[in-house]
Order: sequence, then structure tokens, then C-alpha cells
Amino acid sequence: MIEDDPTERARALLKLGNWPIRRDNLPADRADLMAAAWRAGIRNINVLAKAADVSRDVVYKDLRSHGIEPTDPEAKKEPPVSTAALTFQPARSLLLRKMKDLFDDDRGLGVLVEYNGRPDMTDQEKTMQRAWVDALISLHGLSRAAGVYSSYAQDRQREVARSGLSVGSWDDLVLGTKPVSAWVRDEHDFLCVVCCGAFPSVIVNDFDPACLRCARDVSEPGQAAPLWKAYTHDRFVFPGVLRKNLEKGESTICITYDDNEQREYTCGDVALLFPKSTRLPNFTQRSAQFGGESRDAITGIVEAHTENEGRGFDILATFTYDPRPEGREPHPYGFRFTAARMTPTHLAEARTTEYTDVYELLDDLLTGLWGGNPAKAPGTS
Ligand SMILES: [Zn+2]
Repeated sequence: MIEDDPTERARALLKLGNWPIRRDNLPADRADLMAAAWRAGIRNINVLAKAADVSRDVVYKDLRSHGIEPTDPEAKKEPPVSTAALTFQPARSLLLRKMKDLFDDDRGLGVLVEYNGRPDMTDQEKTMQRAWVDALISLHGLSRAAGVYSSYAQDRQREVARSGLSVGSWDDLVLGTKPVSAWVRDEHDFLCVVCCGAFPSVIVNDFDPACLRCARDVSEPGQAAPLWKAYTHDRFVFPGVLRKNLEKGESTICITYDDNEQREYTCGDVALLFPKSTRLPNFTQRSAQFGGESRDAITGIVEAHTENEGRGFDILATFTYDPRPEGREPHPYGFRFTAARMTPTHLAEARTTEYTDVYELLDDLLTGLWGGNPAKAPGTS
């Protein structure tokens, strides 16, 4: 027998509450595995169906969801992809892991007067959080970043709900301003369900985000919970929630070949090092070269420089194009980060470091640019 522990109960309920998310992702997971098996060279539908314990129809559907046409004789003859290429950890789970790190200590209830200003975060921590969020949005595109942030925030919201915290009195809330009307679908559930304003601050009816003004009309303060938000919440909201910005959900680059053929490629990770898409400070791209044996499988080498307050870094990075989509995203992943060399240019004895993990590179880069420099934060919104 264990002691009757309310925290244990709350934790168990929280875990159970997360199960629907896992359940809803299962078919997509199965399709990922199915496509991976096909690409590894297993082209027999019966074998795939038997292994996954599903019908042949499901196999066809899964493969087609990944752009594979199993009845096409050409597709069947395609050479298997090396298994190394199949062991990529899904970008979303890496991104989620980083967000857990970033927002873990963030109290996230700044809408409450009592918590406004986040006494648990120093200026330096806020600066680093903004720098990281900007880098993650550059690397992943606003659509994926906002999607992962939204599901993370919903998990944190469940914690708030389980703790039974209500706003108590409307006067305990910091007034949100700048409502924006958006007659578009709210892809990531960021908008007030009543007025479509972009600044909800409470949760009413257990899961609906509402702004303070609307919440007063539809709920009692005792039935409203404060909305969990990361300190950098607003960076994810605009313009990511607007449907028209989500159609591609990713930036693209156009490459012109010697014979004048022009091809559009999804940026993927390379967006971090392109002037139009990056949020790195004082950024210059010195060169970008793309090529390969075939136009479907190309690699890129990008040379760039970024600096803040006299602290500069040269980056030389390589990327490999991956035409497969990440999960259910409606576009190819794009260029995946392969490796990079980074050299600080402001140090007398500049040492070049090599990276094969883009998060490790960002860790050193952002600490170098913003660490110990709380007065000069990246542009606030
Ligand atoms: Zn509203």
C-alpha cells in the first residue's frame, strides 16, 4: 500500500490525459514506419501488411501518404535507401525536447497579476529564451515551430487544469490588448474562441482559450483557469495562425541550373542561414552552392556570418536535401543539416569547432552571441 498522495493522482491523471495525443498520432507513426520499410527495400505488400497486422489497403494508403506509389513498377525498382538515412530522429520530437528544456522553468502564468513579469526568469534568461525561439523558428519554419509549441502548451495547460487553479477574480488578470480579427481557421488554437482576438488569457469551459473581455461574458472567474503561455508565446502567434501563411508552411529556394531549368526546393534547415528566413542578428550570407549527381538529391554548402555587439561567428554548413515530408506535413522536409564548422571572429585566438548536431551548434552560437549580455536583447515584439 502506498500513501494516498494527491500529487501522484494528479500526475497519473495528467499522463492519462496525454494518451489521446499519442493515440491520435499512431496512424501517422505507422505510416512513417511503413514508408521506412518500403524505402529500405521491402516492396512486397503482403509482407508489409503481415508485419504491421493491417490490410493491404492500409499499406497502400500509408505508402501513398508518403508519396510512394506502390503499384508503379518504377517505384518498385528504386534502390533501397541506406538505413542510416532512416534513423533521423523526427524533427518534431527534437524540437519538442528543446522546448521542454527552454520553457521548463518558465512559470508561464504571466496573465495573472501575481505572476506577471515572471519573477522566476532573469533578464538574461529572457534574452536567451527569445534568441532560442527565434533560432528554432528560423530552423524549422513558423508553422512547425508553432505546431509543436501549441501541443507543448496544451500539455502545460493540462497541468494548470489538474492543479485546480482558477483566476479567482477578473481583477487578478493582466488586461490583454491589441485584439485582431481573423476570419481564418485558428490552426494552432491560439485565438480567443469568442472574438478571434489573438490575446486570450484564460481557459473557459475546460479547454477554450478566451480573452479577458469575452471570458467575463461567458464564464465565472471561479470556472476560468489562467492560460499557460511561455514568455515568448507571442513570437509563435504571428503570423503563424493565419491560414494563408500556412499553405506551404515553409520557405522555398529556387535554384537555376546551367541549362536554365529552375527548380523550387523546400528550405528545411537551410532557412537558418538564408537572409530572408533567418532571425539570427546582423546576418550576412557569403555564399551558397548547391549541386549533386541528380537534381532530386542535392547537397548545399552555405557560408554565413552573424554578429551581435561585436561578437561575430563565421559558419560554414552543409545540408542534404530530403524530399520526404516530416510526419503529416504537406511539403518535403527540405535540406537537412549535415555538419558545420563555426569560428568566432572576435577572439584573438579563434578556434574552429565542428558540429554534426545543429542544436549543439546553436547552443554555442547563441551563448556566444547573447550570453552574459542582458542589456541587449534581440528585438522585442
Ligand atoms: Zn475575445
